[in-house]
Amino acid sequence: LPSGVHPTFSRSKTQKRIGILTSGGDSSGMNASVRAITRVALQRGCIPFAIYEGYQGLVDGGDKIKQFGWENVRGYLAVGGTTIGTARCVPFRTREGRLKATYNLIKNGIDALVIVGGDGSLTGADILRAEWTGLVDELVATGRVTKAECAHLREDLAIVGLVGSIDNDMSATDITIGAVTSLHRICESVDSLTSTAQSHQRAFVVEVMGRHCGWLGLMAGIAVGADWVCLPERPPPLNQEKYGDDWGQEMADIVGQYRTMGSRKSIIIVCEGAIDRNLKPIKPDEVKKVLEDKLGLDTRVTTLGHVQRGGSPCAFDRYLATVQGVEAVEAVLRSTRDTPAPMIGMSQNMVISVPLMDAVKLTHSVAEAISRRDFKLAMDLRDPDFTSAFDTYIESTLLGGPGKHEIPEIKRLRIGIIHCGAPAGGMNAATRIAARLCLNRGHTPLAIRNGFSGLVNDEVRPIQWQELFGWQVRGGSELGTNRNHPHPMPNSSIKISPKGVENFIDLGQIAFHLQKHNIEALLVIGGFEAYTAQAILTEARGMYPAFAIPMVHLPATVSNNVPGTDYSIGCDTALNVIVDSCDRLKQSANASRKRVFVVEVQGGTCGFLATLGGLTAGATNVYIPEQNLGIKTLEQDIDHLCRRYEDDKAHGNVSEGRVILRTELTKPDVYSTEVIAGILRAESMGLFDARTAVLGHLQQGGVPTPLDRIRATRLAVKCVDWLEDVAAEIRAGAAADGASTAKLAHMSIFTTNPEHSAVIGIRGAAVVLSPVLDLLKEVDLKARRTKNAWWMGLGRLVRVLSKYEYCE
Ligand code: ATP
Repeated sequence: LPSGVHPTFSRSKTQKRIGILTSGGDSSGMNASVRAITRVALQRGCIPFAIYEGYQGLVDGGDKIKQFGWENVRGYLAVGGTTIGTARCVPFRTREGRLKATYNLIKNGIDALVIVGGDGSLTGADILRAEWTGLVDELVATGRVTKAECAHLREDLAIVGLVGSIDNDMSATDITIGAVTSLHRICESVDSLTSTAQSHQRAFVVEVMGRHCGWLGLMAGIAVGADWVCLPERPPPLNQEKYGDDWGQEMADIVGQYRTMGSRKSIIIVCEGAIDRNLKPIKPDEVKKVLEDKLGLDTRVTTLGHVQRGGSPCAFDRYLATVQGVEAVEAVLRSTRDTPAPMIGMSQNMVISVPLMDAVKLTHSVAEAISRRDFKLAMDLRDPDFTSAFDTYIESTLLGGPGKHEIPEIKRLRIGIIHCGAPAGGMNAATRIAARLCLNRGHTPLAIRNGFSGLVNDEVRPIQWQELFGWQVRGGSELGTNRNHPHPMPNSSIKISPKGVENFIDLGQIAFHLQKHNIEALLVIGGFEAYTAQAILTEARGMYPAFAIPMVHLPATVSNNVPGTDYSIGCDTALNVIVDSCDRLKQSANASRKRVFVVEVQGGTCGFLATLGGLTAGATNVYIPEQNLGIKTLEQDIDHLCRRYEDDKAHGNVSEGRVILRTELTKPDVYSTEVIAGILRAESMGLFDARTAVLGHLQQGGVPTPLDRIRATRLAVKCVDWLEDVAAEIRAGAAADGASTAKLAHMSIFTTNPEHSAVIGIRGAAVVLSPVLDLLKEVDLKARRTKNAWWMGLGRLVRVLSKYEYCE
């Protein structure tokens, strides 16, 4: 399980009666959290209750409070919004309303509440908890409840908060449930607008949600490659020295510059809470007027509105809601009278628990900082990711250059960019940003087309700014990629599995062409082959000086099997294809009432996609290459499925369609996807049917998801920074050794320091660079995957949530 989640999956000694409610504005993923809380509560021996219509249900009681069983949350994973309803409840803001709520809690014996909502909802929960004893006493004193009725309740009401909010506006957590799905909706809409904008050479001003928080606006700006974004925390103009308060002129200058460079469209993202430096709201119509008056652009305004709330949750939100839901039940069971009510959040890919009211206070302090015009503090109070994303955006647009951060000629580099291995969503986005940044700063980015075979065929040429327009939304690889791989040296310690290789390319040829094009630094974007390719070049530096340059590998593969990172770019796109496909297959299987699909997914020898796909699609089980599949497992699965279909029959439930996910190279080969489906069919005693679905290369294609585009952007910026820093370090070292400035300017870079060949990765929320050769110990070269992957424990959770494993 991910760090921070510590369920025991055993029966709890205390049988808590846990009320679950969703409150405030709805967000995608709320249902997934209700499902996880309900099912883990049942597995832990607790009794879950759904409270309908948020706090209104608590105040009204009656049939708005309903005990939930396993089947009540069937199908919840895929449904957007909140099925148990939400409301803005005025009575709950009064003590009288909360007295009624207390009465209903006591009458139902509910002694714990898990609230999924925004800061208002969590504040309401905290007030209820603070008043709890007084409210109970009052009900007893007025005879509305008896002492006996309260006896089974502890003196305290356990409260746990989960943050469901599309704005991602809660401090103390990196991300809130629903924000990423909302970003999907925004990016889909803006991508569609972009094609019409381009056709007519129009400008579009797009208003997105976010009253006090610019997260959606900023991330959308990065993901769609917007010309300009306007956020509450960082009001324009950014260059105050030049523009004073005239944000309109700054915007017009930038948009105009893009047009001069050949762009046929302009996209401006404005958050609904956008303001100028004097706190005056900036409205989309005003932006439109500026673009029309100053640039004469045909400008349209699109307000996305409630479209942003809706729709089936993306894979990330299902994952987030599920692991946080698991932790919420654990937090209820850990809760004592003396511990403050916790809010479950996320920090650095770790599920965390923080005092709820501290988080709410911190959140309010952002709005206060903005109202005091302390914009620096407002940015600082957001999570560090937000500030670094803002810097990334600035760096990657004309706001950050050209000319803005240009470095002295002596420090400039010729940076080769190469793709290697299979295509993955986000490769083009990473290339676009890396190349633009290079151009902004005065480096020469060189496109190496068609991988290492292209390099030795001289397919190398400088990249122009204009040719990168639109690359962030394109799937596949614009540079061209393949599995041609440098040949290891004869005595190489890096034993390459030939499985992932098409042709081996001679090292001497590669060195010759790197030298021929005077490539002084290399950015390798790709998957496992890209990693081993770079490791081999690094190992061969002693023999070939052309490899003695700074090199950085940016992991891009759907399989997520590269060492040095929790996520490679492309895996989120693939995961969403899997989740969408499984939703469709389940729907079809539901219709036929008794069908199980064995779904084969990619990943090679790495079970990441099957495991995360299984968790987020609600699979019954997952078969992955890390765990050999045996006849015993198949027997257990058949028993489990028969039991589940028999249960459905016995209880008169509609029989559910089910899916089992299998990674393509799961061993032994004899249990192929077809064979497994055949065995299930033959042994099902007529209770269910089994079919197969092979998703294949669909998983590699399509428009990259916003997360993949954002991760790609973030990593690419850091790659260029790092290459620049390393080159500066190398040159400084040479200067200290006595080389003259004139010589340095023309000196090609030379380094044999193993640290100067690295893999960039996201570990937690931090971006880290690890020496490529050091990572060899974290990798199983034969199996072509990392050892001890962080997600391995999630397979157990898949089974717990599908009632496969019963907790004793
Ligand atoms: P969103 O971020 O979508 O606005 P939210 O949870 O902040 O979500 P609110 O409307 O502020 O949305 O709060 C939801 C409900 O929580 C309110 O309708 C009310 O019932 C309750 N609530 C909010 N603030 C308080 C408060 N200070 N005291 C008691 N109850 C409150």
